[in-house]
Amino acid sequence: MAGAGKRLPCRREDRRREIALGRIAAMPRCAIIFDLDDTLYPERAYTFSGFRAVAAAFPGRLCASFALYDRMRELYDTPDRGRVFNVIVEQCGCSDADLLVSEMVAAFRKHQPDIRLFPDAAAALDRLRGRYKLGLISDGFLEAQQAKVCALGLADRLDEIIITDQWGGRKFWKPHPRAFEEMAVRLDVAPSECAYVADNRAKDFIAPNALGWRTVLIERRGAVYTDATAPPHGDPGATVASLDELEAVLHT
Ligand SMILES: [Mg+2]
Repeated sequence: MAGAGKRLPCRREDRRREIALGRIAAMPRCAIIFDLDDTLYPERAYTFSGFRAVAAAFPGRLCASFALYDRMRELYDTPDRGRVFNVIVEQCGCSDADLLVSEMVAAFRKHQPDIRLFPDAAAALDRLRGRYKLGLISDGFLEAQQAKVCALGLADRLDEIIITDQWGGRKFWKPHPRAFEEMAVRLDVAPSECAYVADNRAKDFIAPNALGWRTVLIERRGAVYTDATAPPHGDPGATVASLDELEAVLHT
């Protein structure tokens, strides 16, 4: 058996040899990893897309005197944002309230979203492709996040995608470090070669800061977590108002 007992060259050594021989092109040595919601596309658009799907899925079952979609949109901009479906069902006086709410949640999460990348996000992904390794780390319910990734065509634009819910519920959602550790391994980069770009000060930067990544906050007008505050060690290393500024802050 040829080579038996010899230490196999590690992946990085192997790649360097192939590059030196001209068999493959040199790959970028730095990685930019993005959050999804309100970083690459507007989360509000996803929510309203889901409300449209829910309104279409329940004709006649909700004895509402108001237009269901319009009422959900109104409630989204009130303190009842987190319990829109419950309020709708309560106001309708439905007898099977719990079942109806769970069906509305299911319809919301599994709908095919009508969403688009922010213009600066689309431009950044085009511009950065080939110059950096690109990845995505996102929390959120697996089925819903997968539908967003599909709708935005991200599988073709990114090298690696990790949806933390894939490991079984909220246990590994941010700020758990597992996704960040795994992403660096998958992309074959050192922590110091990684940057994470995200919008939520409350949870997004704790793990990558601790691991030695660069961290960048994208501040978007109208984002869901605009007013979130950072816990100790959770502040971003830099802040941008547009992904057009990303390379400038990463190279300072
Ligand atoms: Mg986000």
